[in-house]
Amino acid sequence: GEDNKKCSGCGIRLQSAAQDQPGYLPEKAWERDPVICQRCFRIKNYNEASSVAVDQDEFLRLLGQIGGKNALVIHIVDLFDFEGSLISGLQRFVGNNPVILAVNKTDLLPKVTNWNKVLNWVQKQCKEHGLKTEDIVLCSAKKNQGFERLLETVAYHRGDRDVYVVGATNVGKSSLINRLIRDYSDLEQELTTSRYPGTTLDMVHIPLDDGRDIIDTPGIVYPWRYSELVSREDLREVMPENPLKPAVYQLNEGQTLFFGGFARFDFVQGVHQSFTCFISGRLNIHRTKLERADALFEEHAGELLSPPTRERLAELPEWTRHEIRIPKGSRTDVFISGLGWIKVNGDQGALVAVHAPKGVKVLTRPSLI
Ligand code: GDP
Repeated sequence: GEDNKKCSGCGIRLQSAAQDQPGYLPEKAWERDPVICQRCFRIKNYNEASSVAVDQDEFLRLLGQIGGKNALVIHIVDLFDFEGSLISGLQRFVGNNPVILAVNKTDLLPKVTNWNKVLNWVQKQCKEHGLKTEDIVLCSAKKNQGFERLLETVAYHRGDRDVYVVGATNVGKSSLINRLIRDYSDLEQELTTSRYPGTTLDMVHIPLDDGRDIIDTPGIVYPWRYSELVSREDLREVMPENPLKPAVYQLNEGQTLFFGGFARFDFVQGVHQSFTCFISGRLNIHRTKLERADALFEEHAGELLSPPTRERLAELPEWTRHEIRIPKGSRTDVFISGLGWIKVNGDQGALVAVHAPKGVKVLTRPSLI
């Protein structure tokens, strides 16, 4: 029966319940013969990869299979949500296979950014997270930057390996794979996907001209990213599309900044100093007194403090308060996964607090820029 029908492209069990899950096809497409999932359909007919997502357990199960292959792994992370999108423990799963880290969305950083400094920063972060990389490439799928470098380094490390592309959701994985398809395949000829012998079936195998394959894995859903918590409408508000315009605030202790109604930053204690906010330009930053902040939120969330609307705010988890002591003499970012970060400019130390929905990853790190 339909319950057990499988995609004749990639072999995944077909379903019509969830569009962003592997094996999806629209109800009406069940009649097709042979029947294939939407992801395979798009690759076959439009030469276009699209995103599907799975949870962490499922993803780790998939990753585990790469360890036994002769693989080159391209791990894509989102520079705007670096700590939120990094796959920790990747090393354990891919075994001795080489990993290339593609740090995407460089177009979001301000034009004056010192890219050597960013690269050093990424290298340090990788070390900190125990991720060994063969190479690190800064790129922008949107602005088509860094791709030459990425393709070169892939060619250099590839040998006779298949290329596995892994990443969290929304990091630009489809954009990158589409770029690889365009560069490595004959567009006149329709692409087909095929199942990978001996593996479970949620990886889409795309044969390229040179006889090799790229394997698209589902995007991993990390629950600590703001971008996973919000509605589709709000995703457009929190995920920046244009280069970030750093917003500098000179604050005295006892002052608070609201980022729309998504989060709040309190300067609890410390000498007068400046803080630079790197968040989506679509969010208003509202400054108020710390002592007024609770009441203001109570009264004006969803209006003065929006987006989100009051209804959508009600669907987010309750806020948790994270108290953070910034040590003297440090250059620190207070990072809120998927929402952005606040750079503490002074080096006199400070006591700050972030209020964000329960579950959102909040941490400090050495300043990115
Ligand atoms: P996937 O979920 O990882 O497959 O990512 P997609 O390729 O579907 O992209 C997710 C979102 O990020 C989309 O809104 C893209 O427009 C956006 N995006 C992808 N690459 C870039 C990039 O280099 N810069 C910016 N600013 N946005 C990007």
